[in-house]
Amino acid sequence: MNHKQNHTWIERFAEKIGLIPNLHAEEETMEPRLMPEGQLRSFPPPEKWDDWVEYEAKAWPKISKKRYTIVPTTCFNCEAACGLTAFIDKETGKVRKFEGNPYHPASRGRNCAKGPATINQITDPDRILYPLKRSGKRGEGQWERITWDEALDDIAARIRKALQEKRNNEVVYHVGRPGHEGYMDRVLQSWNVDGHNSHTNICSSGARFGYSIWYGYDRPSPDHANADFIFLISAHLESGHYFNPHAQRIIEAKMKGAKLAVLDPRLSNTASMADYWMPSYPGTEAAVLLAMAKVLLDEGLYNRAYMERWVNWEEYLRKIHPGAAVNFETYIEKMQEEYAEFTPEYAEKESGVKATMIVEVARQIGRAGTRFSTHNWRSAASGNLGGWAVSRCLHFLNVLTGSVGTVGGTSPSAWNKFKPKFFDTPPAQKFWNELHFPKEYPLAYFEMSFLLPHFLKEGRGRMDVYFTRVFNPVWTYPDGFSWIEALSDEQMVGLHAALTPTWSETAYFADYVLPMGLASERHDINSYETHSGTWIAFRQPVLREAARRNGKAVTFTYEANPGEVWEEDEFWIELSWRIDPDGSLGIRQHFLSPYRPGEKITVDEYYQFIFEHVPGLPEAARKEGLSELDYMKKYGAFEVEKHGYLKNEKLLGEADLQGATTDPLSGVISKNGSAIGVLVDGKPCVGFPTPSRKNEFYSQTMADWKWPEYVIPKYIKSHIHLDALDKSKGEFVLVPTFRLPTLIHSRSGNAKWLTEISNRNPIWMHPEDAARFGIQTGDLLKMNTDIGYFVDKVWVTQGMKPGVVACSHHIGRWRRPNDPEGNRWAVNTVAIERDGKGGWRMRTTKSVGPFDSKDPDSKRIFWRDGGVHQNITHAVHPDPISGMHCWHQRVRIEKAGPNDQYGDIFVDTEKSHQIYKEWLAMARPAPGPDNLRRPLWMPRALRPATETFYFPEQEE
Ligand code: SF4
Repeated sequence: MNHKQNHTWIERFAEKIGLIPNLHAEEETMEPRLMPEGQLRSFPPPEKWDDWVEYEAKAWPKISKKRYTIVPTTCFNCEAACGLTAFIDKETGKVRKFEGNPYHPASRGRNCAKGPATINQITDPDRILYPLKRSGKRGEGQWERITWDEALDDIAARIRKALQEKRNNEVVYHVGRPGHEGYMDRVLQSWNVDGHNSHTNICSSGARFGYSIWYGYDRPSPDHANADFIFLISAHLESGHYFNPHAQRIIEAKMKGAKLAVLDPRLSNTASMADYWMPSYPGTEAAVLLAMAKVLLDEGLYNRAYMERWVNWEEYLRKIHPGAAVNFETYIEKMQEEYAEFTPEYAEKESGVKATMIVEVARQIGRAGTRFSTHNWRSAASGNLGGWAVSRCLHFLNVLTGSVGTVGGTSPSAWNKFKPKFFDTPPAQKFWNELHFPKEYPLAYFEMSFLLPHFLKEGRGRMDVYFTRVFNPVWTYPDGFSWIEALSDEQMVGLHAALTPTWSETAYFADYVLPMGLASERHDINSYETHSGTWIAFRQPVLREAARRNGKAVTFTYEANPGEVWEEDEFWIELSWRIDPDGSLGIRQHFLSPYRPGEKITVDEYYQFIFEHVPGLPEAARKEGLSELDYMKKYGAFEVEKHGYLKNEKLLGEADLQGATTDPLSGVISKNGSAIGVLVDGKPCVGFPTPSRKNEFYSQTMADWKWPEYVIPKYIKSHIHLDALDKSKGEFVLVPTFRLPTLIHSRSGNAKWLTEISNRNPIWMHPEDAARFGIQTGDLLKMNTDIGYFVDKVWVTQGMKPGVVACSHHIGRWRRPNDPEGNRWAVNTVAIERDGKGGWRMRTTKSVGPFDSKDPDSKRIFWRDGGVHQNITHAVHPDPISGMHCWHQRVRIEKAGPNDQYGDIFVDTEKSHQIYKEWLAMARPAPGPDNLRRPLWMPRALRPATETFYFPEQEE
């Protein structure tokens, strides 16, 4: 801060009379901090990052200075990967605090509460510092310290054996918090295993499918900063993916006059900032969106120029209305007929949102035209049967207004995300793992990961080596007791290695617990669609970088980190090397240095190669006399492209067109059997990665894969539609998906500041509903789900739509008395009993409270409430099309009885298996056309070789 400017007469006076120390005497050492254009007002200039001096706050009233080396990295507490800078005390060599990084193009120096709280996580007294191996039975809670070599050798030998015996599908890597940008794809493909599993089908697959079926990209990249109207189906100003970079741009747009509408049954902090809060009944969002589409069509507010060129409307007319004139006027007419029933009044009846507001917002959207930005990530798309139709109908509004890829509009994610080039790309694996992509879900956008315990129980396969990476399905997923049953069974899971920075309910059931670094203790690269530009950021282990600056050699990151906390990057190189000690499996060749032939690659070389191939980065580094890697070590981030719009209009080059053919009817340009572009206005454009290379209002894919009723955007009634509930029995819809801005799924129990702010998860209920039950805030409710119940307190609030209840999903962490102590800022101790017939009962025996540790704050814990673990009482609900778990629950609410205690849980896993089968019966299994398992054009995580997409002949 520039103290001179702010040196008030009161300060001068107080300093003069000695009331406070003279803070302004040494301004020469406290120079004004840098002010990057349009960014933070103050921050240490990078040329001083090696030796930055600040006053020591804790020395007050003495004036004492501290010298720091400042090292940039990125936050790991949500996917946004905002920039952080670690202030490392030169005297102690320890990280003192984290601030933002103004050179990060997305976060621009700003962070949410979870960024700076990284300091809590790295200093947490309960953290796991050394590799551990279980010493008793699995799940018994006994552990012994081992060396990294012991862990690596044992796991590598087991994988080697599986590969030699062609049991490649028994090696699985399951990721919770991703990152790594392509790193694991390389590792798994070098092993030739179809072993990638993710958490995406309990997170965002619904929305992804809805987008992908339109334009082949699975996420939106809204240009909020330049929008005139912003529409959010979520609480995105306060939580969700990329919310911090988005939130600052939404507020910028609002300051310039943009309007904001929020569709959410809960008065979130986001809704409270909106110009239009539209509290819709859950699952009816698509009805509201189609009513808006109808207003745009009926009032001529659509963008003809865009639609005529970039929508496959001719295909729609030919397929659905054969014989009708193929012209744009007929298309509009037919759409008006298709959506005639979606009057604003119908939408109001379905959703409870006033028809007048629906019309007003639709007109505002029409007026905003190409400057209309939208966003849906989890929220409605992940809550409902058919939730994917919500993002499909939302994108429909972008298509109608021609705001796809425009300034102030909504671009596809891939346009604003950098894809790294690797030093080596192994061939695609020759296996298809049906535990991840079973034939019942040919269109599932990601792996059916939440059904894994049920698949294992049905004997569909087994896992010999199972890695979980920052992944806690026992707690985060629905139906966690089924996970415990599967993980405890060594026939189903031969070896379970948990790669984790902290203890979790899943790690309790591992064979190895391998401590991996937190944000500032690991390597990684990040690039996300946070705005209209493209950037790349470098997550680096800051103490290792500080050691380098001090001239100290470090071979492996665990040498610089606390204890022997390691990182995955080096772990996978070492493991791969040991799986193939003599190179005979063909794995080693993919881990050789691109700079030193025949030698093992180092993590520095891995990133140096990537950074050398980032457009513009070599030039920027040269200007400073640095290598590309050293440039990224210094700044932590690089802007690859400032803005990128309308990339679908990019023209194909002559080389692309050589040997290509053009379909005379559709204009689709193909080469070697794949569509590569489309003729638009006579020009060969790249278009979108769909079969028609355009926005697909009409989807032939849906017709081909047995869902003809959904070939165009439709409203699908949710499993928790009001018609499906019996109010007289106390049935409600429970919205269990909302996030608190200060917590991170199950990963903030090690952050004392965050748990101090948020430590309970009551049931939100409107006063009218509370009056019906005769209850008040703090009373206990028994929430009966389809497979059991949980007992929680109620919070009576006007901020909830009547008829709907909600419960935040982060809180209710637990350990059994025999489990190691971890995350004690947030963890209840529980007793768990089984009845031997599928029944599981959990009761809190000890709540959160003060404890002794090296951190004096642990004695100052004043909260006693660790919350309630609700997810474990949810049945699995796989959407038959997108494969998304449909989170919303039908619950029967009753007042708690005399024997019920706060936090009580009961679950019947036999019932949960039945419910799994009921939902499975809704699926329409493959094969599709040509005996395919899945449409070839549709993306697939860790895409295997093309021949594996076809069922073997005998299964036809
Ligand atoms: S939004 Fe918050 S938690 Fe997410 S990366 Fe940024 S600072 Fe970290």
